[in-house]
Amino acid sequence: MPERNSKSIKHFIAYVEQIEELNNETKNIILDALTMDMYNRLDPENLSNINTEIPTYFFNIVLSNEQLRISEINFEINSWVQFSASEEQSEFRAQVYNDIVFEDNFNLLYIKDIKPFSLEGKQKKIFSMEIFDEAEKNDLFDFINDIEANMVIAYNVGQGNCNGICDETGMPLIYFDFGGGVFQNTKTYPGNYENPIAINFCFTTSPLVILSHWDWDHMASATKIKHAAIKECIWIAPKQEIGITHFKFAMELNKKGNLFIWPNHLLTLRTRNFHIQKLHTSDPKDKNNNGLSMIVRTRSIYNEYFVLLPGDANYSLLDLKEYEYLHGLVATHHGASSHNCLDTIPKASLLHTIAYSYGKNNTHKHPKRLSILEHKKSGWRNKKSTQNGHIALGTDHIIKTIPCGGHHCSLLPKQ
Ligand SMILES: [Zn+2]
Ligand SMILES: [Zn+2]
Repeated sequence: MPERNSKSIKHFIAYVEQIEELNNETKNIILDALTMDMYNRLDPENLSNINTEIPTYFFNIVLSNEQLRISEINFEINSWVQFSASEEQSEFRAQVYNDIVFEDNFNLLYIKDIKPFSLEGKQKKIFSMEIFDEAEKNDLFDFINDIEANMVIAYNVGQGNCNGICDETGMPLIYFDFGGGVFQNTKTYPGNYENPIAINFCFTTSPLVILSHWDWDHMASATKIKHAAIKECIWIAPKQEIGITHFKFAMELNKKGNLFIWPNHLLTLRTRNFHIQKLHTSDPKDKNNNGLSMIVRTRSIYNEYFVLLPGDANYSLLDLKEYEYLHGLVATHHGASSHNCLDTIPKASLLHTIAYSYGKNNTHKHPKRLSILEHKKSGWRNKKSTQNGHIALGTDHIIKTIPCGGHHCSLLPKQ
């Protein structure tokens, strides 16, 4: 927290992490901030000084449309702002947290003089991830080429996404995303009151992590001490414009030699069982639609199935021409219906399952009725929700025992 020196003013730079319409009247804005002083000290030539020790703060602000109008701030998602904050009361009250999970007590601070800020020079290089080298295509190919998938499991992680690409015992060989409920949806994270059963992940096979995009609901579990083993795994992630807390995390992986940045020009990578696509839109700030998505071919003795893991991307950006029907799908964007994400929904095969990955009573009101309706029109009638337990996709056999012998993990599919 900023020093408790009463009424002392501090200057901050912040990345606009989330803007959410609470109702027609108010918006909830989450800022990922660091002090101006710290920001000025960031140096891409001397990255070793950027570590997890840099203090960062999450400002959680609720503003009425009227307040927004008067202040003349046009908050834009994934842009940067600067402001000063102190304990002296003013109109913009912020709850300030130290972490992406809103579990600890917050400090109350009041924001003043908020205005847009544009990144220049060295800092721009840092927060566009340009300081990281892109991985070699061959390395990426080698990581996944030998993996045989028998099923995909959409785990109950609350309001977020985490899918396991598993062997025949249900043991994850790859995690596609490693997220969970955060910020105002911390209550939906496993073990919290909207989702009381805690989760224990399986690290038996030193699974690979493929990250769809840099949003916390897709990677929050990696910040929990309990699941810290995931940082010892290899991460494949897209290059995106990110904020300071994401950057700290990327640096931590990078220092371990575990961060492999997907080359921006590599649109498709195919192996026998996987088809990964790097999506592009004209707006580089749109993380949902500039990330990675994946089609998994799962095989049992008699059959092969195809399961699509779109992350939060619009279906229309995916190249699915060769898949007439899919057997499994994790509905895009937790069942959202915004921004044309439901255009050209892929068709379901007769035997199929669609998983909606969201948390009970989440603030986004996912899944939307429109999403469920539109998916049904494309044949996705067999609908399951992660809030009722982990969901098996792309398989025709039921696993009855917990993977890895039940010593450590709680990843047995329930449905
Ligand atoms: Zn997202
Ligand atoms: Zn998401």
